[in-house]
Amino acid sequence: MALISEAALDELKRRNPCDELAGKWVNLRRSGGKMVGPCPICSPNQLSRNAARFEVTADRWVCAVCEDGGDVIRLVERVEGKDFHGAVEWLGGAQEPDPEVTARRAREREDRKAKTDAASADYREKERARLHRIWEHGEPLTGSLAADYLAGRGIEAPPGARLRCHPEMFYFHGETTDETGRRSARMIHKGPAMVAAIVGPDGRFAGIHITYLDAGTAKKAVIIDPDTGEILPAKKVRGSKRGGYIHLGGDLTTAKRLDIGEGIETVLSVRQALARDGRDLSGHLFWSSIDLGNLGGKATETVPHPTLTWRNALGHIRRQRLPGPVPDLDEPSIPVPDRIDEVTLLGDGDSDRELTKNALLRAARRFRRPGRAIRMAWADAGKDFNDMWIEEMAG
Ligand SMILES: [Zn+2]
Repeated sequence: MALISEAALDELKRRNPCDELAGKWVNLRRSGGKMVGPCPICSPNQLSRNAARFEVTADRWVCAVCEDGGDVIRLVERVEGKDFHGAVEWLGGAQEPDPEVTARRAREREDRKAKTDAASADYREKERARLHRIWEHGEPLTGSLAADYLAGRGIEAPPGARLRCHPEMFYFHGETTDETGRRSARMIHKGPAMVAAIVGPDGRFAGIHITYLDAGTAKKAVIIDPDTGEILPAKKVRGSKRGGYIHLGGDLTTAKRLDIGEGIETVLSVRQALARDGRDLSGHLFWSSIDLGNLGGKATETVPHPTLTWRNALGHIRRQRLPGPVPDLDEPSIPVPDRIDEVTLLGDGDSDRELTKNALLRAARRFRRPGRAIRMAWADAGKDFNDMWIEEMAG
């Protein structure tokens, strides 16, 4: 196979803006500077209860459920199940542009990249510091509205869980433009929230996970976009969650076992059920992976769903695709301590079974070490572990 020059790839990508192509597969709407909507890879059949968050610009796309993203070639690889060269052909093939044009574009690209790299590294570090201040200003969980929220779901957090309650968290969604044309984040809600600290793959504070709460009911807040009437997720991540986790109990320096699952409520429910059964939990760590995609991390490729098909916006019947079982080991991973000799992966039953199974298989391969046992524990179909725990308590 002939090598394709970077200039020819650039030309191909210019001819095929990512957002235009994605818009042919699924219906997207504008939000701030991006297009958002269902992910053409994982969303057509709503594989996950958690609203898929697919964001795309002319250059890049990202999906929080697929835990994947990239340029237009990668999008075609994922949606159409093609390899790199197949995707290039699918997009009309690579053509060598004029060398002068090539040289000029290469210079422009270098300049742009240098600027955006510097700006985004700077932004990330400032945002991290900002989020750490928010975390520091949180109130202790005990006796707080957040503790009431957990109690309402039949669970409590053990000492050491990295959870706090914040009296007034802002909720940002999209962007606004003021009279001078300056764009800024659009704040549509403020109120109390349970805040969890995210530890990154390097062991440092990486961001926060926020569950917005209703002060009256101590349940999750209902957050509505004032312009569109759309109900927005009551949970949000700020900062970076990739390869990160939320510590929900246990001693990091001595524990030999790790129980890890998708959500805070899921993991705390499993902990509570083990405690009720009289298990000695002194050697256990309990972690939330924040979401299912982050539990398994990025896959090397998508695979066809065994049964599901869908009709895309062009009217074609397609086999549903989803992230496969093989982890991309070059991507960041949740840092399971070497001392851990037993890992239990918790699979909730309220997302598509194949989607969850593949995420757990990726996690199992990522966390595999000589002498370490890895097992999977499954919630009943259609339920997460918190649903099951609430039913069990109701007896
Ligand atoms: Zn997706």
